[in-house]
Amino acid sequence: MSSKVLEPITQLKGVGNETATVLAEMGIYTINDLLWTFPYRHEDFRLKDLTETPHNEKVTVEATIESEPIVQFLGKNRSRITVKSLVGRHLIKLVFFNQNYLKTKLSPGTTVTVSGKWDRGRQVINVSTIKFGPKTDNADFEPVYSLKGNFHQNRFRKLMRQAIDCSEGEVEETLPSHLLEKYKLITVLEALEGVHFPVDADHSKQARRRFVYEELLHFQLRIQALRKVHKENELGIAINYDLKKLREFIATIPFDLTSAQKRVVNEICKDLKEPTRMNRLLQGDVGSGKTVVAAIGLFAAVTAGFQGALMAPTEILAEQHATSLSKMLEPMGVRLALLSGSTKTKARRMLLEQLHNGEIDILIGTHALIQPDVIFKNLGFVITDEQHRFGVEQRRVLRDKGANPDVLFMTATPIPRTLAITAFGEMDVSIIDELPAGRKQIETHWLKKEQMHSAISKMELELRQGRQAYVICPLIEESEKIDAQNAEEVFAQLSTVFKGKFKVDLMHGRLHSDEKDRVMREFTEGKIDVLVSTTVVEVGVNVPNASFMVIYDADRFGLAQLHQLRGRVGRGQFQSYCVLLADPKTDEGTERMMSMTEINDGFQLAEKDLELRGPGDFFGKKQSGLPDFKMADLVHDYRTLEVARQDAAVIIYDDALWTDDEYKHLREMLEESGVLNGERID
Ligand code: ADP
Ligand code: MG
Repeated sequence: MSSKVLEPITQLKGVGNETATVLAEMGIYTINDLLWTFPYRHEDFRLKDLTETPHNEKVTVEATIESEPIVQFLGKNRSRITVKSLVGRHLIKLVFFNQNYLKTKLSPGTTVTVSGKWDRGRQVINVSTIKFGPKTDNADFEPVYSLKGNFHQNRFRKLMRQAIDCSEGEVEETLPSHLLEKYKLITVLEALEGVHFPVDADHSKQARRRFVYEELLHFQLRIQALRKVHKENELGIAINYDLKKLREFIATIPFDLTSAQKRVVNEICKDLKEPTRMNRLLQGDVGSGKTVVAAIGLFAAVTAGFQGALMAPTEILAEQHATSLSKMLEPMGVRLALLSGSTKTKARRMLLEQLHNGEIDILIGTHALIQPDVIFKNLGFVITDEQHRFGVEQRRVLRDKGANPDVLFMTATPIPRTLAITAFGEMDVSIIDELPAGRKQIETHWLKKEQMHSAISKMELELRQGRQAYVICPLIEESEKIDAQNAEEVFAQLSTVFKGKFKVDLMHGRLHSDEKDRVMREFTEGKIDVLVSTTVVEVGVNVPNASFMVIYDADRFGLAQLHQLRGRVGRGQFQSYCVLLADPKTDEGTERMMSMTEINDGFQLAEKDLELRGPGDFFGKKQSGLPDFKMADLVHDYRTLEVARQDAAVIIYDDALWTDDEYKHLREMLEESGVLNGERID
């Protein structure tokens, strides 16, 4: 890049030290930094036809003043100017608030260009911007930036104009020419101009198209470079498991593995055996049987003399894993232990000692597993369940507890393909895309809240046949702020309704952990018939006898979460039902309810969820694992993502990347990102 744009921002006219300080707060130090500060939207100043503009929408028109302005004082420093004017053949009023100085300028016969909200009923424009004279060319769109302090948009625009004018011939093209040609992308200079000051809508679109592609290409290059570096450099452990013992164990499992389970077990075992470190994502819909796959993998590691760990996001789930893994693995002589936040101090101390000595083969637990005093003797294989609930940092800490142990991330939230290749692009992916034979589809119905009684009658029929039921509520207790059903109230109601007939109990995150244990145990053992609960039962809870679920205020949940919740029933041989109670207030809410009744497949629902809510909400705001894109939008730009992914795959293995000048910028981007040293990008 040539020197001019790399110069400090103070080289621009009108930028002194004070301004430079404010700009620095926005991360702008050089002219180049300024150029790459993109507006988040544009004001549209294209002239509009008033007769076609709906009420309350913004318009820009050319008007000729027809009357002397009338000024009204509304109080301290507040005034209103009203003036009649002609827009074409349309006589309307222009209203200006608190712009007293205009009164001498708005004389009859003057032509002005004004923008503001169109009050169709009153035939008034409430003017927010005025320019004297007819509308000038090239002023259809004005950029709006996200600015710090009281930096004015107009001032910033002027600086940007200067920056762009002086960048002519100074900004080097950043994409190889064959890619520009292949996709008919505009040059970086044209695109910078178009992103800030587009001459028309198409210019703006082409600028965006170019930068979206470039951004996604950079992103994919980083991911794939990282993956390549890992594959080449990172030595893992070769876990030479005992195939004979593994076969013996598989033979003890009381059902045949589905062919998807077999395929996935093979993929995992192959990774275990290889000396490179496994970094694999296992996706499988609820009920697809991931636990047994985890058990086989962990057992394989144990037969090779290594320890294994399984980390789950909640205590309930950790306990449940401990129970089912013990049932399967203890008969094989495997020593398992459970560590959670509620493990008592003395027991904990003993457990940690055994772990350190190698007297425990498999440790199961919550994030309690990643505390610093949890030290393994030789950890070889780590599985984290429902991993998108963990932060990236937590995953790393767990992984670092062994000498490069193999890592498998399991998730029951089917992830749409675009998100999977984005958030987990550097991982290998295994998918269990088949449910065990004989599973019946869950019948899902959507009722209005006032129809709860009919859900209760249906529930009672199920209960009388010996089945159990879940009733899910969004809240624990009554809330003044949120209008949604609370578990305590429903628990009280159902206790009355079913008094003397069925046992109802209550479960939520604020109960003491002993109480949670008791409730979960009794529900699992069939001593509780109806479990009123918040979403704490969302993940993993496995009670095959439960065949009925009611979800209150179902429209408050996303599709992925509803699907998870629904997955708590239909886990045994019984026909199961899910009733959604909801009076959605939005079209989107209605569409989600319809989707739930129509779609049973988690992957299909995930795509729908992404479409309806966008990628941020898909994973939950906090730890999405998704990068913050400047321009790209994963929902709308997924085709570009796919294309960029393919291009990146070619480039990363092409020598030209490291030698050819055309690739200089891509090369520099990779060098600066740290991925070449194996650093993660998130
Ligand atoms: P998830 O993938 O939701 O974690 P689980 O591993 O909890 O699913 O399995 C759900 C239920 O299906 C369990 O009761 C499990 O024993 C059973 N299961 C798993 N695999 C099979 C199979 N191949 N055939 C029959 N039942 C299976
Ligand atoms: Mg599970």
